Amino acid sequence: MKTKLCLLYGGKSAEHQVSLQTAKAVIGALDLNKFDIHPIFISTDGAWIKGSQLEGPVSDVKELQFSEGEAIAPNALTASVEGSDGYDMIFPLLHGPNGEDGTVQGMLELLNLPYVGNGVLASSAGMDKVIMKNLFAQAGIPQVGYTWFIRSSWESDREAAYKQVEEEIGYPCFVKPANLGSSVGISKCTSRDELEAAFEEAFQFDRKIIIEEGVIAREIELGVLGNDHPECSVAGEIVPKKDFYDYKAKYEDGDTALIIPAEVDEELYARLKDIAIRSFKALDCSGLVRADFFVTKDGRIFMNEVNTMPGFTPFSMFPLLWKHTGIDYPSLIAKLVELGAERHKEKQ
Ligand code: ADP
Ligand code: MG
Ligand code: MG
Repeated sequence: MKTKLCLLYGGKSAEHQVSLQTAKAVIGALDLNKFDIHPIFISTDGAWIKGSQLEGPVSDVKELQFSEGEAIAPNALTASVEGSDGYDMIFPLLHGPNGEDGTVQGMLELLNLPYVGNGVLASSAGMDKVIMKNLFAQAGIPQVGYTWFIRSSWESDREAAYKQVEEEIGYPCFVKPANLGSSVGISKCTSRDELEAAFEEAFQFDRKIIIEEGVIAREIELGVLGNDHPECSVAGEIVPKKDFYDYKAKYEDGDTALIIPAEVDEELYARLKDIAIRSFKALDCSGLVRADFFVTKDGRIFMNEVNTMPGFTPFSMFPLLWKHTGIDYPSLIAKLVELGAERHKEKQ
């Protein structure tokens, strides 16, 4: 029996395009002897459009952006597919808000459908950088200093907000929307002028922002895979050609170097692994996360973030880390489907 796998991709977030690339790659890697592929495209205005079952890989993401077809309400997911009772597994290939943040996961829970990746709590906690850092702090995980604001409090006294940042965090600092990814809306600031511009920018994307101490450090990442007994991949390093790893460096320039495995000695790797697993558990993750660290020259480690649905094309860090650890892209997808099924079974 083949697994009827429903791929959810696109979405309303700023990471729509990235999601399309991921969908294309996943479809290309799926073993058609094991999986029936059922695509559901979510347009940028939030319409869910069900395409026909795919017979094989697509050559261009345009083929995945259906404008016609069956427009469905999300709960039509439970309807029968091609003569069977329904999908066996849903794979949300969505990044950012309305996809990686627990909303889609919550809907799938309500529909009692098995799905790949993190559950509601881990997804939503991982999407909000403030909540994530608060949970990490409670678990004793090392991080840089941070503070945060909601838009209305900033609007009521901007000067006080800037002063607070200067007193508590100082320069250089990073200003980020709390609920986003792919470096969208993030600025590095070294002066009051830049700080003011950075607040304006970040608040365009979210009603809540976080400000962090800027560190000069290597960026090291580990893949984590599993449910109750998660395992870590080898470490990888990102070497941005620019000042920091911004959106363009991530998806457009293509010349950011990914070094896998990263040059880390055994002792450092052991510490990273320990923090990655503790972070996974602190957020009650399941399936996968990519744990991202800052490592300073003098060996200090700061947890930057976990990504509950990390970049997932074959050229993205997470799949490459696993490839170097011995799990290739098709096997990784199969493993994630297995983990999703295992978690679903445990809940029944
Ligand atoms: P996203 O979730 O969008 O990936 P990150 O918090 O990882 O957001 O920030 C994106 C990038 O910005 C990082 O990969 C790093 O290059 C840089 N950066 C973010 N925060 C800091 C910091 N506190 N110190 C130094 N660099 C940072
Ligand atoms: Mg992120
Ligand atoms: Mg990041």
